[in-house]
Amino acid sequence: MRDMPKVELHLHLEGAAPPAFVRGLAAEKKVDLSGIFDERGAYAYDGFVDFLRVYEAATSVIGSPEDYARLVRTVLEELDAQGVIYAETFVSPDFCGGGDLSAWRDYLAAMREAAEDVAAKGGPVLRGIVTPIRHFGPERAKAPALCAAETAGAWIVGLGLGGNEAVGEPKDYAWAFDCAREAGLRLTCHAGEWRGPDSVRGAVEDLGVERIGHGVRAIEDLALVDTLAERGIVLEVCPGSNIALGLYPNLRAHPIARLRDREVKVTVSTDDPPFFHTTMTQEYDRLADAFGWEAVDFAALNRVAAEAAFCDADTREKILKRLEAADV
Ligand SMILES: [Zn+2]
Repeated sequence: MRDMPKVELHLHLEGAAPPAFVRGLAAEKKVDLSGIFDERGAYAYDGFVDFLRVYEAATSVIGSPEDYARLVRTVLEELDAQGVIYAETFVSPDFCGGGDLSAWRDYLAAMREAAEDVAAKGGPVLRGIVTPIRHFGPERAKAPALCAAETAGAWIVGLGLGGNEAVGEPKDYAWAFDCAREAGLRLTCHAGEWRGPDSVRGAVEDLGVERIGHGVRAIEDLALVDTLAERGIVLEVCPGSNIALGLYPNLRAHPIARLRDREVKVTVSTDDPPFFHTTMTQEYDRLADAFGWEAVDFAALNRVAAEAAFCDADTREKILKRLEAADV
């Protein structure tokens, strides 16, 4: 499984920071983070609220453009070790320059340069999706959306919406999504994770997204499932994340296979992998165990993901060729 070439569409950059990387930065900055690791050095938390505390503490040490460039290199190394050949990562101007456009340009330049250097040496190809934070409210989503629109292009390829799904309705964020769409960006939105089918429907109908982050709770409304299948809306499913945060007790109870059986386009990602003690290889192994999926099933998932990637056509062709070359 590890060697199989993979495409990952749903990965938060800060959430992909390995514990050792965060400990290194904390040591340099003389910040005490001892309360967030277990005895083996992994992130340790008890339940969702505690997860948020640990996540916030860990990511608080990642500050400057230089920190972000190092983070990009570290994350790409991890992805490479998992056979990931192409990934899209959520990046947030709120964390990178406080929503200020000129500061954002500095962060972006540092991240992009690091990513392009890794790709030039044969490592995974990375693209960025700008992600306003939902629980900061619709007004504060405007600055990151403008940052995204101003820097839209070959590297910043999309707009998403992360953060607490319980806050507001999708339509409240329509300004940010319209702004991004007009700038040529592709659209995705976290929905159907902490809230049910209405949240997914709102993202599709009111924001016009072509992908949904998670979206798994669409399964609670089969008419919506049919709509997703008919329209070819792609779900960025992160099974390990859903189980780690208690959305489902185990993989057998997770709806990914049922959604796929109903012809919804599903893909597999890790969300915040070290926080959920997972990797892409582990996700594949567990899906194979739970549902009997084989190499041919995973190859098909990766083709769906490559087709749904927000990159330009040339990059997509290259990814598809590499996936095909591995198909036996
Ligand atoms: Zn996410």
